[in-house]
Amino acid sequence: MMVSQRAGRIKPSPTLAIDAKAKAMKAQGLDVLNFGVGEPDFDTPDHVKEAAIKAIKDGFTKYTPVGGTDELKEAVKNKLSRDNGLSYENDQVVVSCGAKHTLYNIAQALFNPGDEIIIPAPYWVSYPDQALLNDAVPVFLRTSESDSFMVNPQALEAAITPKTRVLILNSPSNPTGLAYDKKTLEAVADIAVRKNIYVISDEIYEKLVYDGTEHLSIASLGSEIKDRTIVVNGLSKSHAMTGWRIGYAAGPKDIIKAMTNIQSQSTSNPTSIAQKAAVAALNGPQDFILTMRVEFDKRRKFLVNALNEIDGISCKTPTGAFYAFPNVSGIFGKSADSVKINGSLDLATYLLEKANVALVHGEAFGDDNYIRISYATSMQNIQKGAERIKEAVSALK
Ligand SMILES: *Cc1c(COP(=O)(O)O)cnc(C)c1O
Repeated sequence: MMVSQRAGRIKPSPTLAIDAKAKAMKAQGLDVLNFGVGEPDFDTPDHVKEAAIKAIKDGFTKYTPVGGTDELKEAVKNKLSRDNGLSYENDQVVVSCGAKHTLYNIAQALFNPGDEIIIPAPYWVSYPDQALLNDAVPVFLRTSESDSFMVNPQALEAAITPKTRVLILNSPSNPTGLAYDKKTLEAVADIAVRKNIYVISDEIYEKLVYDGTEHLSIASLGSEIKDRTIVVNGLSKSHAMTGWRIGYAAGPKDIIKAMTNIQSQSTSNPTSIAQKAAVAALNGPQDFILTMRVEFDKRRKFLVNALNEIDGISCKTPTGAFYAFPNVSGIFGKSADSVKINGSLDLATYLLEKANVALVHGEAFGDDNYIRISYATSMQNIQKGAERIKEAVSALK
């Protein structure tokens, strides 16, 4: 049977695929250390779980309004006002089944066939494929480590054509772990307004920032840029709620309305119980985030130091999210036991097979010179993993 042209254009998420492979090896009894994961290793806070249990006991188990309950929209609006200095009306907010779903709804609501979607590389794996699924054309805009992987405003301007519809921003970034500074965001905002393009601002890692980094939403830089930005966020990373599937968007009314209509014909509302949990997460005590951040920060420092001690690897210190993104191009060309390392996939495969260490090749994120190592795992695993990587890499000659 032939699948649709649309389905034929895309591949499964490579990060989820590596995670699945690592889990399968573990199930076979192999001592695999998994650094491929894209989710916090913390448990969802108790008060959030309690709110969900209460929702079940109270019978809050039916359809809700398609775009989320008024109670949850209120909590989202308060959060955006409190944390980001952004104020929205109820009809400027829509809640979906995770931020990935939110991003998909935006693509459905905004992209026309042939529209060009500017995606700074390295990028999160789903942006290009979601564009392809919606008949749009991903246009990759290379960024460099020396610019902390922020888009170069001149390069952005040069990449814009009459067909450009949207720029996707992700700060702090998965996979690079770096965040945009104010100056660059201002330059990007100025270009977006002048060139009449939309900005999708994926801020899912806003709460995970280190070294005094302050998260800034591009939408907060003025009313003109706010009118053309769709802010995307969710509970998965900030509250260790990946399994609950709650994400949300805030932005221009007509886009939010279209997203809500699309949702009404596809998934309907996000889970009623998860919505109650999300209200508790957004309105309740936020000390959980600090605890998680302190722990991530310790692991981050340890991991980056350990990586920089390995010959052929150099790792810029990440200031956000829970990923290290070391440059491994110094290893390319080396080999061990007839295995030659010519790129990031070769290296990731070698480390998985030789050292039982799972991580993601940079090529999956659009830059073959890097690998992504998630530190959303215990300090003990990180210590062991760094040792194993060091040993396996030093065996390459
Ligand atoms: C994890 C992640 C998301 C999606 O998270 P959901 O679990 O779907 O809410 C979106 N963007 C980036 C960059 C992510 O890393």
